[in-house]
Amino acid sequence: MNMHSTFRILRFDPKKDKKPYFQEYRHQPKPKDSILEALKDIRNEQDPSLAFRYSCREAVCGSCGMVINGQIDLACRIQVESLQSDLIVVEPLPNLEIQKDLFVDMEPFWAAYREIQPYLQPEGDVPEKGHRVEEKKMEKVFQYITCVLCACCYSSCPVASRDGRYLGPAALAKLFRFISDPRDSRPYAALKKVDSPAGAWGCDTVFRCNVVCPKSVRPADGIEGLRRKLVAEKTKRIFKRKP
Ligand code: SF4
Repeated sequence: MNMHSTFRILRFDPKKDKKPYFQEYRHQPKPKDSILEALKDIRNEQDPSLAFRYSCREAVCGSCGMVINGQIDLACRIQVESLQSDLIVVEPLPNLEIQKDLFVDMEPFWAAYREIQPYLQPEGDVPEKGHRVEEKKMEKVFQYITCVLCACCYSSCPVASRDGRYLGPAALAKLFRFISDPRDSRPYAALKKVDSPAGAWGCDTVFRCNVVCPKSVRPADGIEGLRRKLVAEKTKRIFKRKP
């Protein structure tokens, strides 16, 4: 028989609370229930004021990132029983302002993402049958395509926590994804834009982003790739006497 667990959930409504606090709920999850299913049941059966974000429930939309027993992950991906604990502590993603309970303001993450212009910039018009490219030439790119923009990496990043200007792992990895795409022809200025401590050189290389990413993107690899590209481009430009 399934046992009741205690869900200790961080609550905060900036409109009425002076500071965040933990509230406990006793709940008996169904077999194989994810943390997200448990949260939905708690909200439906015990407390309709509990706020959290979710959509697809299958690790595709990237909406339900949170901290579960100290680990950043998607709530839909973690089965309650896999935690092997009667006490489940759930907190919102760090490095992002709480809007209510487990629901955070993603705007700094999106602002960084917009900054790198996360779309293909090909040369000339799009051919009638679209851009064709050999699969082999896309190998470097595939790793980054699976990103679901959950901000788990951004929330785990020690640099993002101390410097609001830092673009963060997901945005920088996405820039590397486009720069590595044989169809993309964005100018050198796009790479030069991240030649700073707020960009590619800000990373502390502690690789927490690689560890927490629920889609195995390894965003730190992308940041390292940007650094390599910057060094190579700058060296080339010295010999060609280009600024
Ligand atoms: Fe989420 Fe991984 Fe994309 Fe970061 S790189 S936003 S952790 S899927």
